[in-house]
Amino acid sequence: MDRKEILHWLRCNDPQELQLLWDWADRTRREHVGEAVHLRGLVEISNFCARSCHYCGLRAANHQVSRYRMEAEEILQCAAQAMQLGYGTLVLQSGEDEGIEAEWLAGLIRQIKATTSLALTLSLGERSESDLQLWHEAGADRYLLRFETSDTALYRAIHPDRGTKVSDRLAILRRLRQLGYETGSGVMVGIPGQGYETLADDILLFRELDLDMIGIGPFIVHPETPLGQMPPPLPSSAQVEPSIEMTCKTLALARIIRPDANIPATTAVAVMDAGQGRERALTRGANVIMPNLTPPRFRELYTIYPGKADRVEAADQSDRQIRDQIAALGRHVGTGQGGRRGRAQKKPTKTPTTLRIAVCMGSSCYSRGNNGKAIENLRHCAESAGFAPEISGHLCEDQCTQGPHITIEDTLYSNVQPSCFPELLKHHLATAKEAHDG
Ligand code: SAH
Repeated sequence: MDRKEILHWLRCNDPQELQLLWDWADRTRREHVGEAVHLRGLVEISNFCARSCHYCGLRAANHQVSRYRMEAEEILQCAAQAMQLGYGTLVLQSGEDEGIEAEWLAGLIRQIKATTSLALTLSLGERSESDLQLWHEAGADRYLLRFETSDTALYRAIHPDRGTKVSDRLAILRRLRQLGYETGSGVMVGIPGQGYETLADDILLFRELDLDMIGIGPFIVHPETPLGQMPPPLPSSAQVEPSIEMTCKTLALARIIRPDANIPATTAVAVMDAGQGRERALTRGANVIMPNLTPPRFRELYTIYPGKADRVEAADQSDRQIRDQIAALGRHVGTGQGGRRGRAQKKPTKTPTTLRIAVCMGSSCYSRGNNGKAIENLRHCAESAGFAPEISGHLCEDQCTQGPHITIEDTLYSNVQPSCFPELLKHHLATAKEAHDG
């Protein structure tokens, strides 16, 4: 998948064509990471933050927030709860809080690792290399640090440096990997000023960084932040929309481009579309959910964006709902720690079946729609349906009153409009599968 193709999908608004993308991502997910949905218990251990990111409600400059930092004992109780609920991983997240002392956290990590079988993921912002090393030596397995956007100018505009230290999350991600962490990163979709090309580059960067985990969520405006108060910087046609659909496109493309990564149906997706967000993400490439285990009195204060703590339910209640959602999709809850590296290497991908497609290029068929755009569209549809298309033009079939004509393998189809492509290809996919299964 190249940049041009990624851009095509990001700009595609045809529901029938998009269905091919959703199917492709779902198939890739099934083939590479299976039907398991891994649950990671999330604990928001502190909402203190030394940064003033222009998107985040926890920014230091927001004085409306009451700040908290959880005690070790409270965090250990959450770890015990994660074990009781059968989760394989505990995620400790916070603002960038130097009040979380490196040695203190290392002691807590050792205790969690000594008393539970949980994998431990940290998401504590840009900490010093010595802190990151200490925590890994203490037993932390994974680290999440989103690069937020690959557009350097946009990143600098929304993510100010702290003092004289220049923020370089890509360098930290590389270092985390060298230290031995499984590394996760990701982006927000629809940041004001984020264009389609930028988002395509974000997706290509997921591949370049060989990420173990990829978190993608819609940008949600927080009124107490600079991004919540400024006029839109791009014309609406150029601006990526902060919608569930755009987030799902990004997620689906991330799955296709990094087939064996762990990709969560993020909280921001569930907040933006409380009814169906999670299911949508899970059927379009996601294989992880991070149920929130933060005690409600703290959770209410961890207001990265509005709506996040609107439905604060007891952990066992939301756990039941999540398990029901997973079962309703015909999937199951993953067992074990569910890390990327622990997983057996995926068998090599099957070579896609070749599909011969001949497009009538007679002048009448051409004027009825068999033009370059339709061919391009057809190629996309065929590839998304899992075929390696061999498209050729041929001369008039002498039946131009019923055109446009397209021949797939040995069958001639008449009056083929682009909206019919997905159906036709589905039919051929079924035939190819039958032939394969004997
Ligand atoms: N302090 C840590 C953890 C941040 S919270 C860090 O900076 O890495 C995790 C993620 O929430 C951020 O990386 C960002 O991508 C996302 N986030 C922050 N503000 C948001 C908003 N207004 N809308 C949607 N997502 C947001």
